[in-house]
Amino acid sequence: MPAQSLDHADLGQADVVIVGAGILGINQLYRAVQAGYSVRLLEQGEGVGGTWYWNRYPGCRFDSESYTYGYLFSEELWRKWDWSEEFAPQPETERYLNHVVDQFDLRRHIRCSSKVTSAVWDADAASWTTRTEDGFEIRSRYLIAATGVLSVPQYPDVPGREDFLGETYHPVRWPKEPVDLRGKRVAVVGTGSTGVQIGPAIADEVASLTMYQRSATWATPLNNHPISAGQQAYLKANYAPIKAELDVSVGGFLHKSAGKKWQQDTPEEREVFFESVWNSPGFAKISTNYDDLLSNREANADWCAFMERKIRGIVQDQATADKLIPRDHLYVGLRPPYVTGYYEMYNQPNVELVSLRETPMVKVTETGIETSDGLREFDVIIWATGFDFGTGAMRRMGVAGEDGLKLSDYWADGPLTYLGIMAHGFPNFFFPGGPHGAAGNNPRYGELQVVFIQNLIDHAREHGFRRIEVPKEAEQGWMDMIAQLEAYSPFEQRGQYYGANTPGKPRAYLLNPGGRPKLDEFMAKAVEGGYQGFFEGVVQ
Ligand code: NAP
Repeated sequence: MPAQSLDHADLGQADVVIVGAGILGINQLYRAVQAGYSVRLLEQGEGVGGTWYWNRYPGCRFDSESYTYGYLFSEELWRKWDWSEEFAPQPETERYLNHVVDQFDLRRHIRCSSKVTSAVWDADAASWTTRTEDGFEIRSRYLIAATGVLSVPQYPDVPGREDFLGETYHPVRWPKEPVDLRGKRVAVVGTGSTGVQIGPAIADEVASLTMYQRSATWATPLNNHPISAGQQAYLKANYAPIKAELDVSVGGFLHKSAGKKWQQDTPEEREVFFESVWNSPGFAKISTNYDDLLSNREANADWCAFMERKIRGIVQDQATADKLIPRDHLYVGLRPPYVTGYYEMYNQPNVELVSLRETPMVKVTETGIETSDGLREFDVIIWATGFDFGTGAMRRMGVAGEDGLKLSDYWADGPLTYLGIMAHGFPNFFFPGGPHGAAGNNPRYGELQVVFIQNLIDHAREHGFRRIEVPKEAEQGWMDMIAQLEAYSPFEQRGQYYGANTPGKPRAYLLNPGGRPKLDEFMAKAVEGGYQGFFEGVVQ
């Protein structure tokens, strides 16, 4: 179908402006270009990749299987690209995303080093005006913020943090130039998924490594391995069935559920079963575990007792093992990390674990970190202290919708969304991968949203509508679902998924507790109802 474009007098206008060249921004760009729209993608970084551009820290890799994380929209792409490992490291994923951009000739639509500072809706023109830090301005009918849930770094509010005279890093702002940590005294603050990847990746080369842990987490082995030639051939030959399976998978993975509950097994059978789960890859620890793992506290506690025995078996110093074993939450109470060599590194003489629960941080000095048991001196401090999750980037983007309503004000008490992609009062504005969207392998959830958004825009073009806005009742319906099902979420309220790690942020659930079934259900309802109430105004 020919594009029904706005007037493209210059590069300052486009049908669609996308913000963010991460995994979903590129997906959205691909689809919008394929559908014949003029598109500009604005990216803050100097290159594309989003998460996989910014997170260059040692040990960075994803914990979803590579081929389930990559794009499924092109069999040719699937066949051309060889993932080297089950769980690819950051440089490979960054290369992959650059490869996709080049294969589909998308780079010419992308403007890098373009940090968006404001985006303002003009109701009369039914268009958005987006401005960047470097003075670029562009008008577009549609604005799509693919800015990611984990893009704004979070630093702890600890006295003296700026006084430290050594090197400091946040993993999401890791320099492009190699960082030489050899022979240095290094502190890693934070033992979430990031900190526990960094530790083992640098433990051998640094003079000393001190891990500062506030909350212990149930880390389990990633069980990564290279993809063999045989497996590679299998993947290439099975694009269609793999895609079909992922297209309906609740978690966005290929894992097979156990098909049994904890009660059905004897204690001896459980021990054998848990051993196989411990040896399974990544998130299979959840998805192939007992079906009632997250709904039956007894089952979960039994799995935790098994993991405790494993940790005690790996870590030689039992005082260190004591600190590493969570006492305040069951499995998935906090987002569980997947690790390689994490527990093992504590057996090295140059690695120390400091529990901030036992000896809280007092201040940072010019030479190191002081906890209640004294000062430890460092050459380098790595603040692996997380992100302003879910809403961080969008709240800072200067989005103003109908009647000048600021998104940051509309979301003052927590985000209000429809399907995690739209908000009432913000016409022609979408945010795939935003808060309330995902509950599993992010690219798979995000893809559902990207396609839904593209369909809405296509529907508007087909019928001559110039304005798409989610009706308040539809938004309320999605928010009611979140309020009802949040009670069943396994996550503790003190974590990032409630915004509790970010000072001053309202406590509100930021994931989709209904998972894929609810996303599918609501999307189907919108389509079957002919998107009633979403469209307005005929294009002149
Ligand atoms: P995170 O999970 O929020 O962990 C931050 C860590 O810093 C926690 O241990 C936290 O302790 C600690 N911390 C925060 N403020 C602190 C303070 N004031 N003093 C002392 N410690 C403090 O952040 P992350 O590890 O960067 O991971 C964020 C998300 O990124 C993950 O949930 C995951 O989705 C994603 N990720 C994925 C992978 C992967 O393999 N796919 C790898 C890295 C990250 P508390 O828990 O006590 O707050």
